[in-house]
Amino acid sequence: MVEMRILFLGTSAAVPTATRGLSSAVIIRGGELLIFDTGEGMQQNFIRSGLGINKKLKIFITHMHADHCLGALGLLQTLSLLGRETPVEIFGPPRFAEFMKTNVNILSFGLIFEVRISSIRSEGVVVKERDYSVSCCEAHHIFPTYAFCLSEHERAGIFDIDETKRLGIPEGSLYKKLQSGEDITYDGKRILSTWVTGPKRPGRKVGFSSDTRPTDRLRKFFQNCDLLVFDSTYSHEQWQKAKDRLHSTATEAAILAQAAGVKKLLLTHFSARYADTAQLVKEAKAFHNNVEAAQDMRFVEIPYPDI
Ligand SMILES: [Zn+2]
Repeated sequence: MVEMRILFLGTSAAVPTATRGLSSAVIIRGGELLIFDTGEGMQQNFIRSGLGINKKLKIFITHMHADHCLGALGLLQTLSLLGRETPVEIFGPPRFAEFMKTNVNILSFGLIFEVRISSIRSEGVVVKERDYSVSCCEAHHIFPTYAFCLSEHERAGIFDIDETKRLGIPEGSLYKKLQSGEDITYDGKRILSTWVTGPKRPGRKVGFSSDTRPTDRLRKFFQNCDLLVFDSTYSHEQWQKAKDRLHSTATEAAILAQAAGVKKLLLTHFSARYADTAQLVKEAKAFHNNVEAAQDMRFVEIPYPDI
C-alpha cells in the first residue's frame, strides 16, 4: 500500500490574491513528489509545506502561460541553494525547454543538480514507472496545452495467510514472492500465487485538466478518475467569458466529471473575483455529489477505491 495525497500550492487564475497563489499542485506518493504546474511564487508554499528538498521529484508543465510556468525558475534556484543533490525531471511543451535554457543563461544559474527536461510533442504516456504511469491529453486552451493523468497499475490481490500456512510454506521470502504474484516451488511442489491471493485490485487514477474548455476528449481521458482537479475559473453566470477565454465554469467541470464517472472533483484555478468559492461549489454540486474547492496549503487524501 502506498499513501497518496495532493497538496495545493496555488489555486488562483492569472493573478494571485491575498489568500491564493498561482497555479501549482503537488502529489505526494510514497517518497516521491509530482508537481503539476509551477506558477510564480509557488516555491514559498513548497518550502512552507516541509515536503523536503531532496525527494525524487518530477515536474509537469501544462502550458506556456506565465501563471503556470514562471515559478520553475525560482523553485530550481532555491533547491540548488538549499543543497539538493538529486536530479529533477521536467516534462512540458517544447518551448519550456527553450524558456529554461534562455533563462538559465541570462540569470547565470549555477544549479548543482541535474535537470532533465523532456519535451512533450504528442498525446500519450509521458512517464512509465514500476507501479504507475503518467499520460497526457491535449486540452482546449492555447496550443499546446496538456492535461495529465497519473494512473497506478493494478495491485496484488489480498494475501491468504491461513491458506499459505496450510500448504506448509514457511514464512519469509516465499510469502513475499507469492504475495507479489510470483509462483514458487517448495519442497518439490509447484505453488501458484493465485492459490493464495485474491483477484488483483485496482490502482488509483488522478487527473489534472489544466486550463481548458470541457471537451469530449478530456471526458474520455478522465474516465473513472478517483480524483479530478479541473479548471473552474468562473461561475456559470460568466459562461460567455469562460468560452471566450478558453476556460471552464464550475458547472461545466461538474458536468464533465459526472459524465466521466469521476469519484471526487476538486475545483481550482479561480478567478480573483471569487474571494469566496462557496458559490462555485454550490453550482457544481447540482451536477456532481462529491465536489470541493481546492485551497492553498490544503492536503486532500487520495484513498484506494476499494478501501
Ligand atoms: Zn491559468
